[in-house]
Amino acid sequence: MKKPTFGSRTGGVKTLECKECKAKVHNVDTKADAVTCWKCVAKSLNPRSAIISDMSKEELERFFKKQKKNGRSEN
Ligand SMILES: [Zn+2]
Repeated sequence: MKKPTFGSRTGGVKTLECKECKAKVHNVDTKADAVTCWKCVAKSLNPRSAIISDMSKEELERFFKKQKKNGRSEN
């Protein structure tokens, strides 16, 4: 059996350019024809925090975890 050379191994993912900043985004569903990278997603979620693009992905994840915790004040 022959398989297409462009990786359709795990459910079919490809690499696309972010439609906002043209950064390469990996592991995009092959069905998708446009993608937004995590940085631009973060920016759109927090348009006022310009610093966010200077954060590493790790820092960003921590940041969002904090946001979630602060969102619910269960005491
Ligand atoms: Zn982007």
